[in-house]
Amino acid sequence: MHKLFALITSITMFFPAFAQAKEEQDVIYEKRMELYKKAETVSLIPWYYFAAIDQYERNIRQVRRDIPKAEGVLGIYIKPQIWAGPLNKDKNDTNPFTISQFGGLGIDGNGDGMADRNDDEDVIFAIARYLQSYGTDHEHIKIALWDYYQRSKTVDLILGKGRIYKKYGTLKLDEHAFPLPLYANYSYKNTWGDARGWGGRRIHEGTDIFAGYGVPVRSTCYGIVELKGWNKYGGWRIGIRDINNTYHYFAHLNGFASYLREGQIVEPGMIIGSVGSSGYGPPGTSGKFPPHLHYGMYKDNGYTEWSFDPYPHLKYWEREEKWKKRK
Ligand SMILES: [Zn+2]
Repeated sequence: MHKLFALITSITMFFPAFAQAKEEQDVIYEKRMELYKKAETVSLIPWYYFAAIDQYERNIRQVRRDIPKAEGVLGIYIKPQIWAGPLNKDKNDTNPFTISQFGGLGIDGNGDGMADRNDDEDVIFAIARYLQSYGTDHEHIKIALWDYYQRSKTVDLILGKGRIYKKYGTLKLDEHAFPLPLYANYSYKNTWGDARGWGGRRIHEGTDIFAGYGVPVRSTCYGIVELKGWNKYGGWRIGIRDINNTYHYFAHLNGFASYLREGQIVEPGMIIGSVGSSGYGPPGTSGKFPPHLHYGMYKDNGYTEWSFDPYPHLKYWEREEKWKKRK
């Protein structure tokens, strides 16, 4: 914690613009937390469920063009026909009475007489009341989420985020780490989209970081271990889902950290395994190529998942960490 404080202090000293952006971000986090806590107070549903739903929707919104940009501090988007009620002819209805007549989700949360789906308080209270109508315990919230999103992956992503927020008790979980310790001997370059040598016509979806056998591999983010095991292409591999719906993929490992379990919550810098050359055959196959970490990033948009180039992120995290050390 002290290290982090020192880092923030030194960043704010040298980069005033960055400091301002950080302060603005902190204010937004505070406002969000206030709304989640209010919703918790009225519904008795823990705040981290609201935080998780909001964070999920915020990330969906960032990568989708069919949803308008958020106006307030929340990311939750409720479709007009859901808010006003499916049979309501006035899709932009803000009258709490007619909305309730048509079975809409919209309510007047802040007591201004209007049920406005662009108002953060109205939105969070509407979600609170919707969840509450199922029950306030985990199992009922899960069913409520399933009925609302109709996609088990989405429910899993939201509940995963909820667990992370619950554990850390904060919304500030943006920190990242470079996957290898900076003291290690490693090298990497941008190979995004290159042809791959094995397994037919596949393009390279990631960055290869070359290093010796046994060099520790670390989590790049706060997240949940979604996958741990063998695959004929990736060998021993680990997948970690962070709070931004991003999936971090680590392949060709020599082995896993002994304590690592699927479903476990990890933090940036936590050792999850070590560099190896596993893969390209049945379980245990190794040594078909020089040892390296294959690191990939994938994003979920609520329908599907696609890979994007991790190289700029790796460069950024590496620089950030080097800079932290120097101060
Ligand atoms: Zn690779």
